[in-house]
Amino acid sequence: MKIIMLGIVGAGKGTQAKKLAGHTGIVHISTGDIFREAVKNKTELGLKAQEIMEDGGLVPDDIVIGIVKERLEESDTDTGYILDGFPRTINQAEKFDKTNNDVDAVFYISIPEKESVRRLKGRRLCGSCKRQYNIYLNKNINGKCPQCGGELIERADDKEDTVKIRIKNYIKQTKPLIDYYRKKGKLIEIDGYRKIDKVFKSIVDSLPNN
Ligand code: AMP
Repeated sequence: MKIIMLGIVGAGKGTQAKKLAGHTGIVHISTGDIFREAVKNKTELGLKAQEIMEDGGLVPDDIVIGIVKERLEESDTDTGYILDGFPRTINQAEKFDKTNNDVDAVFYISIPEKESVRRLKGRRLCGSCKRQYNIYLNKNINGKCPQCGGELIERADDKEDTVKIRIKNYIKQTKPLIDYYRKKGKLIEIDGYRKIDKVFKSIVDSLPNN
């Protein structure tokens, strides 16, 4: 099964993609994670992406498409994949379509724009195990990861000014993908303004061939 997760920043694409990967056994591929790893390891790709990401911009289409194509050649994608954060522009989607990757479903997780800002402001990442939390939802969290005790950090691109730029970019460049996939009959809209497990149930219930 080939799935795309679509939605504004903070909609819960990553959270739901991870849960879906656990449920189906299909691999979760996050382009954001690939870039963050490259930045951490100071690879050539990381050096190119770092500034763009920290400024809230989008990595150039050709670079992203190359990375995704390469990743999809790995054998763990033989049974399918859940793409999270890709495509992010019409150009990326069109180029991706030309690679014969006919997706089965595009889950569009919708939340109000205001909620996107609120969620990103509260988002914290464990520096050790990379688990993600929200300080508004997990009131007991006190700067430490409840799972491994690691330091909780704010993503550099979750700072308020950067979030505003990311939302603007989403509206201009990514939002048109909703219609793009709706016209192809692939779009499944999921109300993301609910508890994580409720959103997940809706996704599982709407999986093709369920
Ligand atoms: P994410 O974790 O999906 O929010 O991605 C973090 C950052 O990585 C984005 O703000 C972009 O700078 C970059 N990025 C991730 N995926 C893409 C993509 N498909 N196209 C362009 N830039 C991307």
